[in-house]
Amino acid sequence: MSRKQQRIANKLATQEHATQRRSLALKVFDEVDALVDREVARSIARGRTPTCSRGCSHCCRQEVYVPRAEVEAIVEWLESSAPHLIADLKIRIAAWLSWYRSQYPRLVASGVSRRDAFYAHGPQCPALVDDACSIYPVRPVFCRTHYVVSPADACRPEGDPARSDAPVQSLGIFTKTAPIATRLRALVESQGSDFNGTVHLLPEWLAHLLDVEQQPWRGARPAR
Ligand code: SF4
Repeated sequence: MSRKQQRIANKLATQEHATQRRSLALKVFDEVDALVDREVARSIARGRTPTCSRGCSHCCRQEVYVPRAEVEAIVEWLESSAPHLIADLKIRIAAWLSWYRSQYPRLVASGVSRRDAFYAHGPQCPALVDDACSIYPVRPVFCRTHYVVSPADACRPEGDPARSDAPVQSLGIFTKTAPIATRLRALVESQGSDFNGTVHLLPEWLAHLLDVEQQPWRGARPAR
């Protein structure tokens, strides 16, 4: 095989691998949703109704780490089903990255915990619009599995005068969906990649795959 033929073969294999990852990520989203529906119904039957609902977005300030495969599915959905969202999303991603590189290290250096830096001081997820997830059909597994059964005000940042008690996440859904999400790891590793190396913050992956920046994870930052 000539070098040119080899390059073409490599390119086709790369494209095929990406197609496989996107396809499996969508299946994982569906299966996670089915399991979450069952667990939520079971919890309601036990008298513990989740309080999460549209319009409540306290949890969309967290560090959301995602594997590349999930964000590939998000970007394909944006490009095929919601291209009108992309321009403004890119602006919010750039603003998020600016905060992450400037304010975030200062907060952590001053003694604020990483969690509080995000939760109490950070910008909301760039995908959040008017307190609703603009990429809801393809939101990451992490977001699909995050439920509380405590009052919504319990999810406000510590120090917020409207905060009631600490939030209660008693459903354990994230743990129960782990075997489903683990199939993405198996696929990525079968393609020859280190799965953990494909995990970055959601805004970083979005920046990379939407061409806001090629290497948004560059430069020094506090360790995870
Ligand atoms: S992807 Fe959607 S649900 Fe997840 S943190 Fe962002 S806005 Fe919230």
